[in-house]
Amino acid sequence: MRSAKIILCILSILSVYSQVQRVSSQVSAQTPAHSKHLVPLSNKRIAPTQQRIVIAASMLLDGKGHVLKDTRIVIEGSRIVRIDPTAGPVDYDLRGLTVLPGWIDAHVHITWSFGRDGKNAGASETSQEAAYSAAANAWVTLLAGFTTVQSVGSPTDVLLRDAIAKALLPGPRILTAVEPLFGQGDKTGAPDEIRAFVRKQKTAGADLIKIFASQSIRQGGGMTLSREQLSAACDEAKKQGLRTLVHAYKDAVRAATLAGCTEIEHGTLASDDDLKLMAQQGTYLDPQAGLVIENYLLNKEKFLGTPGYTEEGFAAMEKVLSLNHELVRRATKIPGLKIVFGTDALAGSHGRNAEELIDRVRDAGVDPMSALVSANSLGAEALGMSDQIGSIAPGLQADIIALDGDPLKDITAVRHVVFVMKGGIVYKSAARSLVNITGHP
Ligand SMILES: [Zn+2]
Repeated sequence: MRSAKIILCILSILSVYSQVQRVSSQVSAQTPAHSKHLVPLSNKRIAPTQQRIVIAASMLLDGKGHVLKDTRIVIEGSRIVRIDPTAGPVDYDLRGLTVLPGWIDAHVHITWSFGRDGKNAGASETSQEAAYSAAANAWVTLLAGFTTVQSVGSPTDVLLRDAIAKALLPGPRILTAVEPLFGQGDKTGAPDEIRAFVRKQKTAGADLIKIFASQSIRQGGGMTLSREQLSAACDEAKKQGLRTLVHAYKDAVRAATLAGCTEIEHGTLASDDDLKLMAQQGTYLDPQAGLVIENYLLNKEKFLGTPGYTEEGFAAMEKVLSLNHELVRRATKIPGLKIVFGTDALAGSHGRNAEELIDRVRDAGVDPMSALVSANSLGAEALGMSDQIGSIAPGLQADIIALDGDPLKDITAVRHVVFVMKGGIVYKSAARSLVNITGHP
């Protein structure tokens, strides 16, 4: 029986190999449909098999900062049931790779794509083409090792979230803010109107509330909500059992912290005192060390001239990049400050989310283990989902990925995701020799 299983695994690896030589990496995730653990996506809903799967790992990062050597993970259905070095027989031999929990990205715009004309189409386009693009964004994000993302926000997230949750499409688990609250001074409304807006998002299916308390950094980053308005938003969300993510720069960082909001996005130009206050209050910080601005600069022509993107704005962004490196560098030194991982992935950067891990380590001096934990157990804690995702432990969802390489020695190993399992389903399982053709561009 055991040898039969091993032969089956070898056969499926060989079949992946032969097929990947002909097709792209994105297709390789679904091609080995005849393998006993890979569920065909074409003619059947993706559902976890109830069978037991054993993964062998020589190096396992548990997501909380520990390294386990030479062990095995036992999975039943969608969950991890045991970590047991003696378990067998082995279904997936991931020895020689680095095995870790699927990553969590706290800040993406999953539906944001470039349109048919190649230009930025935003996150809320509702054309058929935009719907396919959004599904593709979800797929490449999952294949890049991200098994959970928080999308903040567009009402178009909701249908994609639900399609993935119903296993109609492959993609990461999505949490969405639905429609964000855009601060526009007095025009935003009185506190009671703001409270009503928050309740409306909850009714529309929001998993959290996104609040813009500052202008774009391209326009100077000034505050756009009064303290009273901000307090109304974060207080009402809390009453409704929802977390609040606040887009905030400079003074808005302190104001959002004092208003009891859950997490600050970006945080550029926050002072050390602001950051210390956040640490005291337990407010999470989600800064971006590079990818979002690098992506804007890389795709400048596709954004320029679309709403919100001007030459002046692009000139400002180049300056912001170094401010962001500096913020992450300073924030890392504040004792007790909880820094989570969020990329602000939008058109052009979906599937390249892990580049932000490299930016944090290479450009902002974060140590590799802290960077990885920010995208695992700490990221899960910030979502209030520590009991479900973010570590490799009994009872948690079987969200497991493997990298070809050791990210603790060379952080660029995060580009080489060769195995992706979400909720017990394997979406990618490439032979190690194929690493170079399975990476994203
Ligand atoms: Zn954003």
